[in-house]
Amino acid sequence: MADRDGVIWYDGKMVPWREANTHVLTHTLHYGMGVFEGVRAYHAAQGTAIFRLKEHTQRLFRSAQILNMPIPYSAEELNQAQAAAVRENGLDSAYIRPMCFYGSEGMGLRADNLKVHVIVAAWEWGAYLGAENMTRGIRIRTSSYTRHHVNAVMCRAKANGNYMNSMMALQEALACGCDEALLLDAQGFVAEGSGENFFMVQDGVIYTPSLTSALDGITRRTVIQLADECGYTVKEKTITRDEVYVADEAFFTGTAAEVTPIRELDGRKIGSGSRGPITEQLQSLYFDVVKGKTAHSDWLTYV
Ligand code: PMP
Repeated sequence: MADRDGVIWYDGKMVPWREANTHVLTHTLHYGMGVFEGVRAYHAAQGTAIFRLKEHTQRLFRSAQILNMPIPYSAEELNQAQAAAVRENGLDSAYIRPMCFYGSEGMGLRADNLKVHVIVAAWEWGAYLGAENMTRGIRIRTSSYTRHHVNAVMCRAKANGNYMNSMMALQEALACGCDEALLLDAQGFVAEGSGENFFMVQDGVIYTPSLTSALDGITRRTVIQLADECGYTVKEKTITRDEVYVADEAFFTGTAAEVTPIRELDGRKIGSGSRGPITEQLQSLYFDVVKGKTAHSDWLTYV
């Protein structure tokens, strides 16, 4: 990742990709206190457009508010930085990564004396869980790692350190030959994937866990709205893993994962064992929306 051409927005300026460096005593590198976003831009009707840019930037500011981390730029400046990162790297479609981290002014845990730095990088990134899995569906496994308790770390914040839990869960799932993990909350109910929100379908009704221990996903919000506009009932409820074993369909949502069908959990085939019809409909609608082929053009920001 570090050795390539291009530019990265770093504290207000575009710098050459290879020179976008920081000191080894960077505070966030040691303790994980930082916030970030994952945003995508697609090749859309009138050029390259960032999907739901304002909502992503708003979530970045909310994550920072939760961590009590002052971001030294306005939302508008960071929106422009994200558009510039796509544009100036000449990208037709992109994954965009804004991140706010503490500098190297001190190593103590108190952070009030530290400078907050902001970067925005953008690069091309295809289907996160594999292109063929977008039709075939993925195999997942219930994780032995519990999702964070709401009072251990702040689940509503997209915070760097929170991803240690995600990475351990994913590592375990991959070691068992699966594609992704399903994490349960501290009460034992389904929370989310390592980097995705979870949905299941039963008798035509779409269910998703509440946001107690899951990230308030922008793709989740998008899919709920699209499903609602298609006339489906979408309900938030507590979901047990055995409810998923007998679901008709299941899928993950996320900016990186988009709408990824789940074909198997813990060795049990879900529904027909491939992408279900409602999953397929919502996945196709999602791709139409992000590419500006249908309604909701207000969700697109052309770069
Ligand atoms: N949960 C977690 C833990 C995530 O990292 C992500 C990806 N940001 C999501 C859910 C999905 O969120 P979004 O749809 O906003 O990308």
